[in-house]
Amino acid sequence: MQNDPTPIEIRQLQASGELEISWSDGFVSRFKDAALRRACRCTTCRQASARQDVIPCPQDIRIRSIVPIGSYAIQLCFDDGHDRGIFPWDYLRQLGRGA
Ligand SMILES: [Zn+2]
Repeated sequence: MQNDPTPIEIRQLQASGELEISWSDGFVSRFKDAALRRACRCTTCRQASARQDVIPCPQDIRIRSIVPIGSYAIQLCFDDGHDRGIFPWDYLRQLGRGA
């Protein structure tokens, strides 16, 4: 029985605007900051995508800060002022697959 993988290191790659996560099982995920902004699942963004609205998201958007939420998620604050997105580990693993 293996525990669900958890991040052992989270790095912000400023030059390319990416977030890189090394997991406890050796897997490495890499995300564009802009892709994470679009993948935000906060209430506001979910309602917008349910209405098929386009979430305004500049390609050069950057993550401004990363806030740990307990031991199961991180909250990402973007430099467009959006800071409502909570990204649980299993969601990040899902997003990072095949990237
Ligand atoms: Zn959002």
